Amino acid sequence: MKYAVLSDIHGNLEALQSVLAEVRRRKVEKYICLGDIVGYGANPNECLELIRSLNPVAVLGNHDAAVCGLTALKNFTPLASKAIIWTIRELKTPGREYLASLPLIRSLGDITIFHSNLVCPDDWVYIHSADDASPSFNRLSGSFGFFGHSHRPAIYRKNGRRVDQLPGSEFFLSRQWQYIINVGSVGQPRDRDPRASYGVFDDESGELKIIRVKYPIRKAQKKIRAAGLPERLAARLAEGK
Ligand code: ZN
Repeated sequence: MKYAVLSDIHGNLEALQSVLAEVRRRKVEKYICLGDIVGYGANPNECLELIRSLNPVAVLGNHDAAVCGLTALKNFTPLASKAIIWTIRELKTPGREYLASLPLIRSLGDITIFHSNLVCPDDWVYIHSADDASPSFNRLSGSFGFFGHSHRPAIYRKNGRRVDQLPGSEFFLSRQWQYIINVGSVGQPRDRDPRASYGVFDDESGELKIIRVKYPIRKAQKKIRAAGLPERLAARLAEGK
């Protein structure tokens, strides 16, 4: 099965539309969504509608949980909290109910998906390194784990007891090993590349590609400013951080 893997859309409709236009060229059969559909960006309802129309296999992100009252605001930076409070006011009921229905972890065959980590997925502790990934490998039963949350693409491979981070953006993954993969963020990349990021994964051939997509950043920034959201949330989109 060929999957498009999307994460951390964060209410950025321009980024999501541009990514979906790119996905359409790739004969994808199923969508995976790794959470944080809302928060930060100015179009939470539109992003939710679009994502739901794709009927994805999806998990709950920390911003999604916060807007549903499922995690406390004190766990967020002041900047993130402001955006969450704004999003709570904007969000329509069907979208909120959809988010509230999402689980923290889901499995499809030997793929496991989660937003933050597999050890305690609702403590929202980040995986930023091979060392951070190691405890989650101990909880991974199949060959492939996909996660989001850091907004930075990264591929970790476990070979025996050793966990390595692999360089590059195109891979052939082998079931000989286990992998934990971050496909980057659609709506707010933080690896200093402002282009939207997502993944295409074929679990039969093992081919994985991390794909970067240009989108109309200025338009997304304009909407953030017009909504009265913090200026920093607009500025950071152009910086990719
Ligand atoms: Zn996020």
